[in-house]
Amino acid sequence: MNGSHCEVLVIGAGPAGSTIAALLAARGRRVIVLEKEVHPRFHIGESLLPRNLEIFEELGVMDRLAEIGVVKNAADFTDEMAGGIEKTFDFSRAADKTYPSAFQVRRDELDAILLDSARSRGVEVHESLQVTSVDVHADGARVAAVDSDGRHSTWTADFLVDASGRDSLLARRLAWRRRNRTHSSAALFGHYGGVVRREGDAAGNISIYWFEHGWLWMIPLRDGRMSIGAVCEPAYLKARDCSLEEFLGRTIALMPNAAARMKDAYTISEVRTAGNYSYDARRAGGKNFLLIGDAFCFIDPVFSSGVFLAMSSARLGADAVETCLDHPRRAAGAVRRYERALRRGIRRFSWFIYRFRSPTFRRLFTTPDPPRRIEEAVTTMLSGDVFRRTPTVAGLAAFKATYYAASLAGAWSTRRGAEQARGAQQTRKS
Ligand SMILES: Cc1cc2nc3c(=O)[nH]c(=O)nc-3n(C[C@H](O)[C@H](O)[C@H](O)COP(=O)(O)OP(=O)(O)OC[C@H]3O[C@@H](n4cnc5c(N)ncnc54)[C@H](O)[C@@H]3O)c2cc1C
Repeated sequence: MNGSHCEVLVIGAGPAGSTIAALLAARGRRVIVLEKEVHPRFHIGESLLPRNLEIFEELGVMDRLAEIGVVKNAADFTDEMAGGIEKTFDFSRAADKTYPSAFQVRRDELDAILLDSARSRGVEVHESLQVTSVDVHADGARVAAVDSDGRHSTWTADFLVDASGRDSLLARRLAWRRRNRTHSSAALFGHYGGVVRREGDAAGNISIYWFEHGWLWMIPLRDGRMSIGAVCEPAYLKARDCSLEEFLGRTIALMPNAAARMKDAYTISEVRTAGNYSYDARRAGGKNFLLIGDAFCFIDPVFSSGVFLAMSSARLGADAVETCLDHPRRAAGAVRRYERALRRGIRRFSWFIYRFRSPTFRRLFTTPDPPRRIEEAVTTMLSGDVFRRTPTVAGLAAFKATYYAASLAGAWSTRRGAEQARGAQQTRKS
């Protein structure tokens, strides 16, 4: 099989790859996508954010999304280590009310819709074709691929987009991938039937449970299906001495509130695992290549930010690709601006993610009646409104200041306690 030449070659047809391909084809670019699997295919990442709807609208897929999705009005959090304290963040309370809800979806269905949308705009898609090597040079890129029958092909392009997800083809090849060693975790997950849903408008909520070894998600899907997964410290997972299914069951049993919803539950899919550690790439691209979605950066999925960040990076990236193609002298600046904008959005989530499991954070996050501007700011972040300068910046700063003050006070009282204990010990000795 002989590959061909195009303006933009995209590796990977996940949300990032299909989105950038569709947007560039709509602007008249000749785009080819190479995907190693065949859609529809299973993928993890089923809970979407309200601000993602803006991009679905731009792609013209909202009707199809409404057909496959469950409406998600809020995210609720339960602290199993503090007796089951609950806090719900209702997206209608975000600063901008344009998108007061989101969807929960099966990714096999979502990703097939996004790829269809790219095809309908003229994108040439080749599935079952795995890219095996990549070479970017001064005039473009050359890519080698192999299909499921073992046939090899070579493809060339003026510009290459790496949307290969956690495989991060280019970042690995360029030795740009940086693993975040302080935030490593692993996940196990599956689909269940017979799980009790929240009532009324809350039936589509994502539920998150903190427990001693990590956190658990429950994501309601169509047809009575519930996606359940636990993100755990690697040491906890390593101690597993039974099947994945049994281990996930035992893990859920550690959480009385989550377990209460599982009394009549049964598995309807295999239980899978994913290494889940965070990483990013040192840089987001060069003169004729760009890294988007998980191929550039992955952060812990506790706030369901992955698909939104992937599609947002595709949207920001499409502008950068156009500048690189039309004005090569401005390419470096365009890639820098792309990277800066993307990192700003990622940072908004990361601050909360990095502290998510600390006792001080849990206490503040689940405060029943926080000041209105703080609640609005946190809800705005949770809805995915992280790329614009919104008036909620002050509310976020107030939350952070409260967190730092409470952490300092906690550290201070721990130190005082230790000093008092030491003093008492010395008195006893003498
Ligand atoms: C445990 C867990 C739970 C998560 N939960 C959520 C959630 O609830 N909500 C959310 O928004 N996100 C969630 N995420 C994150 C989400 O899965 C990703 O952020 C999202 O899928 C990124 O999209 P992408 O297009 O960048 O990559 P992907 O969706 O991974 O797509 C990459 C595509 O590239 C293809 N590919 C890879 N290598 C090659 C190759 N060599 N040649 C050709 N094709 C290739 C793959 O087959 C794939 O189709 C979760 C992630 C994990 C690990």
